[in-house]
Amino acid sequence: MKILVTGGAGYIGSHTAVELLDSGHEIVVVDNYINSSPKVLDRVRELTGKDFESFECDIRDKKKLTEIFQKTKPDAVIHFAGLKSVGESVMKPLEYYDNNIYGTVVLLEVMRACGVKKIVFSSSATVYGGGNVPPLREDMPVGGTTNPYGTTKLHIEKILSDLYVADNLFSIVILRYFNPIGAHDSGRIGEAPNGLPNNLMPYITQVACGKLECLRVFGDDYPTPDGTCIRDYIHVVDLAKGHLAALNGCADKPGVHIFNLGTGVGYSVFDVINAFEKANGLKINYVVTGRRDGDLPVCYADATKANEVLGWRAERGIENMCLTSWNWQSKNPNGYDD
Ligand code: NAD
Ligand code: UDP
Repeated sequence: MKILVTGGAGYIGSHTAVELLDSGHEIVVVDNYINSSPKVLDRVRELTGKDFESFECDIRDKKKLTEIFQKTKPDAVIHFAGLKSVGESVMKPLEYYDNNIYGTVVLLEVMRACGVKKIVFSSSATVYGGGNVPPLREDMPVGGTTNPYGTTKLHIEKILSDLYVADNLFSIVILRYFNPIGAHDSGRIGEAPNGLPNNLMPYITQVACGKLECLRVFGDDYPTPDGTCIRDYIHVVDLAKGHLAALNGCADKPGVHIFNLGTGVGYSVFDVINAFEKANGLKINYVVTGRRDGDLPVCYADATKANEVLGWRAERGIENMCLTSWNWQSKNPNGYDD
């Protein structure tokens, strides 16, 4: 299949690009590099030994995007492009609604006009809000998001469902990611946050390499065994493979197919720090501070649906997530800027 990958130079997109190319698919990457660099794509080419077309294009640029679709004629789209920082979305809600929601609407309009009716969309566990008791199942109610970023994912899921009602030739796969961490085994691609990391693992790796002094653990008074929040961390390569399974399993099945991509196992913040120290033989300097606004105490997936329907399940454990995160960070202390 020929797959157009929006946001293909990003963290998850680049790992998925490698898996797609390694499996014999053709890809076309569309990215405006607002949170990435074209250098990432050179590394994808180097890792796979395969070339592909890539276009610097904002998905909101309908004219340019249409030309790309007309020129490259993809069979399907995997849609990663979007802004993803929870904190930034609170400060810049309009930018988030514009980029994520309007951008997706433009993409869908172009797909419809060009007769491309297969899409895999990057959603998030955040759509479950705080009203459900984990493990979170796909049929549980969604809503009650606590920030504009999460609300964009919720709205996009609804837009995709509405689109299917209007045109039931669309095959729509919504993947709700839990917490992706880790990096490709080569250490050539990985997560390269701009400025101060928001997420736990990149913060830990930057403390480990001395770029940051001390990790702040946001609260140890939650109702969990060690008092810190519990999350379902999933290796980014497993997550990338989940996209292939979704394409193989659902691309030819019109409908709206929703899957959690998680491991089904929850780890606390202290568990992750301990696992990182053990896997890499390093000490992480940390201090416990107050809670971070909006954090849920416990969030992990019921991952059985993806296993039963797609035959996919996460294979890598927390040790490998910690090893590959550090392998990437230690080999690329400045991300792709070297
Ligand atoms: P990322 O920022 O590394 O990748 C997103 C890519 O999209 C970047 O390369 C960026 O330059 C590009 N982009 C952004 N807006 C664009 C636009 N208007 N036009 C073209 N390109 C644009 O993020 P990621 O971690 O790889 O996440 C990929 C997707 O998965 C996002 O939609 C994100 O919301 C979602 N997601 C991520 C996580 C996570 O923890 N990383 C969790 C759940 C869901
Ligand atoms: N966390 C932390 N310190 C940090 C970043 C995150 O203690 O510098 C905690 C956060 O409170 C949450 C967990 O680590 O319990 C995962 O946070 P992250 O931002 O990586 O993902 P989220 O689940 O919020 O999307």
